[in-house]
Amino acid sequence: MICTKCGQQMRMTDKNTFTGRDIREYKCDACGHEDWEDHGTALWQILSDDREEFEAAKAAREAAAEPDAQAESPQSNENPAISSWSRFLNWLGFRKEK
Ligand SMILES: [Zn+2]
Repeated sequence: MICTKCGQQMRMTDKNTFTGRDIREYKCDACGHEDWEDHGTALWQILSDDREEFEAAKAAREAAAEPDAQAESPQSNENPAISSWSRFLNWLGFRKEK
């Protein structure tokens, strides 16, 4: 970072990420001017968000992989019965389209 007062290269004196933002404080050794710079979201915050997304995706996959108790609902057995019945009607020569 360049000092706004004298144009010299400033020295980073502090790095502050506890708010989730990457704030860096600089001091100019030439004139004593102090300034700070916002480098955006702190790296640990980005990593933390990624890990939360990873855990959420992993939990969703595990939930989907678990056998569903609702899978054996009466409705799932209905379609084969209907198709058997229509095959039986077809065997009798029944035609739905007239
Ligand atoms: Zn300066």
